[in-house]
Amino acid sequence: MDLDALRACVHCGICLPQCPTYRVLGEEMDSPRGRLYLMRAVAEGRLTPSATFARHMDLCLACRACETACPAGVPFGSLLEQTRGQLTRQGLTSRPRLLERLLYLLLPHPGRIGVALAAVRGWPGRGLRRRFRNSGVWRLVPRLAAMEALLPDDIPQAASLPRFTPARGARRGRVGLLTGCVQRHLCPGVGPDSVRLLSLAGWDVVVPGEQGCCGALELHGGRLEAFRRRARTLAAAFGDDLDHIVTDAAGCGSAMKEYGHWIVELSGVAQRVRDVSQLLVDADLPLGRLDTTATYHDPCHLVHGQRLRGEPRALLARIPGLRLEPLAESDLCCGSAGIYNLLEPVLADRLLDRKVDRIAATRARIVVTGNAGCLLQIARGCRARGLDIEVLHPVQLLARSVAAGDRSR
Ligand code: SF4
Ligand code: SF4
Repeated sequence: MDLDALRACVHCGICLPQCPTYRVLGEEMDSPRGRLYLMRAVAEGRLTPSATFARHMDLCLACRACETACPAGVPFGSLLEQTRGQLTRQGLTSRPRLLERLLYLLLPHPGRIGVALAAVRGWPGRGLRRRFRNSGVWRLVPRLAAMEALLPDDIPQAASLPRFTPARGARRGRVGLLTGCVQRHLCPGVGPDSVRLLSLAGWDVVVPGEQGCCGALELHGGRLEAFRRRARTLAAAFGDDLDHIVTDAAGCGSAMKEYGHWIVELSGVAQRVRDVSQLLVDADLPLGRLDTTATYHDPCHLVHGQRLRGEPRALLARIPGLRLEPLAESDLCCGSAGIYNLLEPVLADRLLDRKVDRIAATRARIVVTGNAGCLLQIARGCRARGLDIEVLHPVQLLARSVAAGDRSR
């Protein structure tokens, strides 16, 4: 453990109001300061890790809101990941082991996700699924219910992206696009829109066919060896001839930007990673008019993990006719947090309810957010509330604006 980083905490408490678990539970040990106190006690040998210690660590969303709030620069995210790594090695967890193991066997494997979704799509059918969902049987198995509820009524077909798309207009360079394991299956509109916009912005876009998972889930879960293996494999799929490696899923981008912290030889790869909003923000896009209202939710791993707050908003503000309504607590976690909503559905639902309350109060027609987990989680919350509101990635709204411009020319 990095003792110096742990000792940098001066216990000021500035981070507490920013912490979603502290706001909901009101417990010091479920706050950043409390967790750091526990981590330090273990690192200094004053406390033996126990099931209670693991519970406080497991309840953390790894949202890193405490990190952006902290005036002392405590790197909470990496300290949590190191702590979870120790707990994993010692076999200490408060979570259902079988479900956790199944999720790690499924989610970092896009091929397996495709097979699982094909099975759900074919059986038991949409009507039966809905009846089952409303029957109350699911209440007996809340974690499986949480997983099923994330799926849209009509499960889409996975996106198929061209391996190469040339730049249009003045060429700026060559980028590789990460397709994202869950995103390519459950948010299939995002990848094609990213390709289209990047091409319009002057980038040749390469989509390596052999790309796997970035390892973000394993990193946040403390499975550091599995994370390092995946990171090395993924980095090898992107050629040295690329100016940037682009992600349109905030969780993946945040993990990839930190590759150099965990694997020194991948520092060069990490430095080339960009969120799609960073490459589009100053591009000359042919945007057309969209007379509607939208509101923006900050994905934790974009605003806190990558410190990108202004870029997505600046992009959306450029859409002619679009009214952007401010969202209260826009940077408070929606409860998705990787697989947190599947492992801790009760607390995740309390955060989702709070998020949907704030979204409904804006009366916007569209809620925009740049991460697959947030898209699915917020869509689920809006569906359950019966809200007539679309949930879109920024590139989807921008592509819609470009299409409107095409039609008016
Ligand atoms: S990462 Fe998020 S949930 Fe965890 S302590 Fe920090 S603010 Fe709280
Ligand atoms: S983590 Fe930072 S903000 Fe939070 S109590 Fe420690 S020094 Fe203060």
